[in-house]
Amino acid sequence: MLTTRRANVTVVGAGIAGLTLATRLKQDNQNATVVLIGPEDRRPQRISTWLDGKQAVPAVVESCIDKQWDAWVFRDSAGTPHTQRASTWHYNAIDGRRLKTQLEEGVELLGVHRVHEQCHGVNRTAVGYQILCDSETIFSDHLVDTRPPTIPSTTIKQQFVGHTIRCANPHQYSAPLLMDFSASSIANDGLTFIYCLPVSDHELLVEATTFSPSLHAHADYEACINQWLTTNLPTNTYKHIETESGILPMGPTKPIDATLVRCGIAGGAARASTGYAWHGTHRQISKLTTAFSRTGGLSSVQAYSDRARLMDILFLRVLRHQPEAAHNLFIAMAQHLPGDTLAQFLCDEGGWGPCLHTIIAAPKWPFIHALWRT
Ligand SMILES: Cc1cc2nc3c(=O)[nH]c(=O)nc-3n(C[C@H](O)[C@H](O)[C@H](O)COP(=O)(O)OP(=O)(O)OC[C@H]3O[C@@H](n4cnc5c(N)ncnc54)[C@H](O)[C@@H]3O)c2cc1C
Repeated sequence: MLTTRRANVTVVGAGIAGLTLATRLKQDNQNATVVLIGPEDRRPQRISTWLDGKQAVPAVVESCIDKQWDAWVFRDSAGTPHTQRASTWHYNAIDGRRLKTQLEEGVELLGVHRVHEQCHGVNRTAVGYQILCDSETIFSDHLVDTRPPTIPSTTIKQQFVGHTIRCANPHQYSAPLLMDFSASSIANDGLTFIYCLPVSDHELLVEATTFSPSLHAHADYEACINQWLTTNLPTNTYKHIETESGILPMGPTKPIDATLVRCGIAGGAARASTGYAWHGTHRQISKLTTAFSRTGGLSSVQAYSDRARLMDILFLRVLRHQPEAAHNLFIAMAQHLPGDTLAQFLCDEGGWGPCLHTIIAAPKWPFIHALWRT
């Protein structure tokens, strides 16, 4: 039987953005009726990001951090490693699937009304929204959409396939290998690198990644990973545990409905120069929650500063026209920036300081050319 329900706020999509937003809205506005719509998201997902050691992390996130590092490595195309160290901005491996399970338990306890179904459509009414699901129709004053957008063919994408493997003997990696450009190439029109996360002494997440406008076959990523493992773990035997994969936008996307307030990947939270979405998503959630608590209303919020967006536009032009220069930029950042500065720059934190440091460290000509290109 079809039920009709009234709500103050409805969040569509129950990935990390939707679950976290519904949690924060209900925690901060206990009298508000909050509805969260979307199937439970059980995909394996390793989320890694830098977190400022001086800032408190929500308990639910803290409990899902498997490992933390204060150093990480870039390896150039000739195979030379460049290690970066940080004193406060640590790199964290968060178990995304565990985080989503715990957030699901949390929203239930908080009294968020959970509809475990797809939403079929959203109509505007005189006073809000009508949201259509199989078993319920919700009339809501406000709505935030986190359903994934379409990525146009012209937008550069971060495409990746990652294998989690368990080694018979301890492996040699003590720090994350953020970009290993010595990997065999997949994308002729962009960058290819291996990302390797030593989750424990015996466990590695090895991810083949491309930054490129075109999409590539899953098998190409598998071959790249296998070749990297043969070269880099020649004597260890290992067992494949699970596979994760994704395609993240590095630039403009086409939302399902551009007139709706959006959050997470749907709201442009994937940083255009990296595909990392954690900081942009959490910045949007804080702004939306604060606005709702103060005014009882919700309107679209930017995930990144104008400064970061301008830097990303230039970087993407370099990546599109001179992928080799983009490789040199990452290596220059690894060689010349302190780890804390790189982390702040990539997370769009710390104001102009990290940005100016990065401009000084970067090779200049590709960016000067990029000013005149589209
Ligand atoms: C495998 C993987 C690894 C990643 N690793 C990192 C990382 O290391 N660091 C980082 O910063 N970022 C990472 N990202 C990017 C980003 O942080 C994640 O994608 C994050 O999960 C995005 O959350 P989201 O809620 O915005 O979007 P999504 O996770 O895409 O959630 C959208 C939700 O909407 C739901 N939905 C779709 N259609 C409907 C509908 N009609 N009705 C209701 N619900 C619907 C989907 O089921 C989904 O659960 C990764 C992404 C992937 C896929």
